[in-house]
Amino acid sequence: MTTATAPMGERMFGTILIANRGEIALRIARTCRELGIRTVAVHSTVDRSTAARFADETIQIGPPPARRSYLNAPAILQAALQAGAEAIHPGYGFLSEDPDFAEACEDTGVTFIGPPAPVLARLGDKTMALRSAADAGLPVLPWSGGTVENAAEAGSAAAEIGFPVIVKAAAGGGGRGMAVVDTARELPSAFARVSSAAAAVFGDGRVYLEKYIDKARHVEVQILADRHGNVVHLGARDCSVQRRHQKLIEESPIPGAPADLTERLCEAAVRGARAVGYVGAGTFEFLLDDEGVFHFIEANCRIQVEHPVTEMVTGVDIVREQILIAAGSPLSIRQDDVTVRGAALECRINAEDPARGFLPCPGRVERLTLPGGPFVRVDGYLDQGLDVPAQYDSLLAKVVVWAPDRRQAIARMDRALGECSVSGVPTTIGFLRGILAHPRFHAAEHSTAFVESLIGADA
Ligand code: ADP
Repeated sequence: MTTATAPMGERMFGTILIANRGEIALRIARTCRELGIRTVAVHSTVDRSTAARFADETIQIGPPPARRSYLNAPAILQAALQAGAEAIHPGYGFLSEDPDFAEACEDTGVTFIGPPAPVLARLGDKTMALRSAADAGLPVLPWSGGTVENAAEAGSAAAEIGFPVIVKAAAGGGGRGMAVVDTARELPSAFARVSSAAAAVFGDGRVYLEKYIDKARHVEVQILADRHGNVVHLGARDCSVQRRHQKLIEESPIPGAPADLTERLCEAAVRGARAVGYVGAGTFEFLLDDEGVFHFIEANCRIQVEHPVTEMVTGVDIVREQILIAAGSPLSIRQDDVTVRGAALECRINAEDPARGFLPCPGRVERLTLPGGPFVRVDGYLDQGLDVPAQYDSLLAKVVVWAPDRRQAIARMDRALGECSVSGVPTTIGFLRGILAHPRFHAAEHSTAFVESLIGADA
């Protein structure tokens, strides 16, 4: 067997274990193949056939429930040892931001492809992340300054911040574990609701309060940091098209943003990354208010679902950079090498039924046509006859397009989605095309409340 080498000639991993499933597992496998790295995919019993399609070796690690398979750290580490993997790529979700898992990997002698455990611990607690960001001089919204222990403490923090406030789980993620509160009367029940939901979902019921911004845009910066102190940003994304705090359409660059705003945003993210000793690929997330002022809200220590839009405008393969960084190589790009060209959009196609309140709809894909043509990329794991399992998130595929400008990118995305058809399971394709056609989206005048205003807040 040949030993894979990094482009600079340094030693590279021979085998990487992919501790994930679905589109991101396939995405990681593709870059590994290009780097000459052997891949091992671990999978639950329902994902066997998909894993076998893209990986060199597959190892079954447990039954469908995630906590017994994709969250089963001992089984994954055992699989890594069995397969002779030198590194684990955790993808997003599951164990990707778990400091205990990162540490267990290192203890087992397997490289965790992600930030070091102490960085994960620090940024994974949103209150510590806010404090670190504020200490590094990043603007943050008025907040409770730490977690609040009970409804009374929440009350006094809210009085100081001023309503509306948002109650958030310190360990929250994925748009879950938060509630917007307009009046003091609603606060005790919101506090109890978020706290108990967070304890159940994240195993950590601690909550904090933050000023809620009504007409916010969600903007974020992709950064890369190596083990040698080099940090670069790859420009900014706008992810304001959201439903229930979850992103549906993402784009890069931020439409309509003055160059100096994007520059300040990127500079803030790099400063934040340096301040915590960040290593790996990461995202610093901000809310942009209607006066054009940005506020840091959190950092994500993993590859993100929306990373392809950044890849399209910069030409940088972010998964490749993650692997090279983990292998100890210095970044292959300097800040001056990064230019953002044209505009890219990503639409997330979910197996959900918009006519039934976006109910997740697992089932069998009977017929499938995926889009193609110039500057269209599809990251997905769909196949005719595939059973979409009920146990995991409903993301089926991401359609990503690039064009010289945003107007053409929107037209290209609409054309691509028009070519795309899935029968057997309902999808959000038609709904996404409706958003693309909306004048507010065209004018980039939408905030994070835009989708809910279209479908009604309860949908
Ligand atoms: P998660 O980690 O669950 O993704 P975030 O803190 O990133 O949570 O917030 C997700 C989304 O919730 C944001 O993109 C935004 O739409 C909304 N949100 C969060 N905090 C605020 C806030 N202070 N004001 C207005 N909207 C907010």
